[in-house]
Amino acid sequence: MIEDSLAKKAKKQLYKAAFEIKLDSNLLKILEKPKRILKISIPIRLDNGKTKIFIGFRCQYNDAKGPTKGGVRYHPDVSEDEVVALAAWMTWKCALLDLPYGGAKGGIICDPSKLSESELERLTRRYTTEIMPILGPHIDIPAPDVYTTSKTMAWIMDTFSMFKGYTEPSIVTGKPEILGGSKGRKEATGRGVAITIQEFFKAKKKSLKGVKIAVQGFGNVGGHAALFLSQMGAKIVAASDASGCLVNPDGLDVPGLIDCVEKHACVIKFPGKQIDREELLYQDVDVLVPAALEDQIHRKNAHKIKAKIIVEGANGPTTPEADEILEKKGVYVIPDIMANAGGVVVSHLEWVQTLSGLYWEEEQVNAELERKMVKAFQGVWEEAIKRKVSLRCGAYVVAIERLAEVYRYRGIFP
Ligand code: NAD
Repeated sequence: MIEDSLAKKAKKQLYKAAFEIKLDSNLLKILEKPKRILKISIPIRLDNGKTKIFIGFRCQYNDAKGPTKGGVRYHPDVSEDEVVALAAWMTWKCALLDLPYGGAKGGIICDPSKLSESELERLTRRYTTEIMPILGPHIDIPAPDVYTTSKTMAWIMDTFSMFKGYTEPSIVTGKPEILGGSKGRKEATGRGVAITIQEFFKAKKKSLKGVKIAVQGFGNVGGHAALFLSQMGAKIVAASDASGCLVNPDGLDVPGLIDCVEKHACVIKFPGKQIDREELLYQDVDVLVPAALEDQIHRKNAHKIKAKIIVEGANGPTTPEADEILEKKGVYVIPDIMANAGGVVVSHLEWVQTLSGLYWEEEQVNAELERKMVKAFQGVWEEAIKRKVSLRCGAYVVAIERLAEVYRYRGIFP
């Protein structure tokens, strides 16, 4: 059996919700296609004097609700197909959280671990220059994603500003605080994952105390989610990254592990028992948080998962085939567009702060993040119960109905 492309998998999720709400077929024709995809070649002078061409993309999937918003990913597996799927998910996520944004995503096919800092800077600056015609604080606003950081955002912001001839901090979010970045942005996605899990347990009238959790991908999202969940009383019993997997049935020392990853960029330098990276998914835990990359839980391994609750920190970690298997097994899957929306919620707050020039205290940012995440979760939960559908379908229904309403007012130009 040939696996569907990622964009096709994303479409299947859309079709399911569209069928559930009997979405107007004319509107579905719009929502199933990206508005704009830019593919660029990026010539870079390497430190050894040779020139290398990298391929990059920016997809602006849908801008009916406002300027498009989405991260930029540096990874060898980046492709046009992946960028389109990720941009579609950003569109539904922004609609679900009721942000005044559409969805976008960008990426460069590269292995950042094999590039020096100055090569990465040249790559980022040239990429920014190539996508400049479709960038702008009211057009499309990039943010960090896999293997890009606040430093990457600072280079994008500086390049854009140099071309414009004035400083434009609202062109990116997730930038360093000194450049107008929001307090709490770095931790926001992980914090949002933790808030979502807490709300799920509240909805089930259960306590998080001592709940066993495994986190796949101990990066920005996974590491912060683990930290906040351990502070809420849960036990992080397994954590993995690209280097391997650590386990401790009594609970890992999460702050210690974060320090180790900051120093050595991998979890396996931390003392403790190690298992095969793939085995993390099959641990006997209550909650599994995939927070690395897409397609991790698929039709071939879904039946091996023991966790009864999967919370998607990453975008697209569960394929539609795996979703069906898990649903039959009675596993709850809290979908990416809900669980990892904390990042874009605080990105929106950052954008508002830079546009207005008024900066918020971290408590204010975190309180607004929590308010939005709780409200969105409750909406998804109620929708899923009312319609007797999965949480993913419930989340899509809320998002697509909101977009449908936008189109009802705006109409189709001309
Ligand atoms: P990151 O680069 O900080 O971390 C990614 C982590 O995944 C790294 O620790 C890496 O070693 C690990 N990893 C890679 N391949 C792995 C594998 N096969 N098994 C286990 N671990 C593996 O990236 P991030 O920003 O934390 O993003 C992670 C996911 O969350 C992505 O899907 C991203 O799109 C999504 N996301 C990120 C944000 C954000 O604000 N950063 C927001 C929403 C969604």
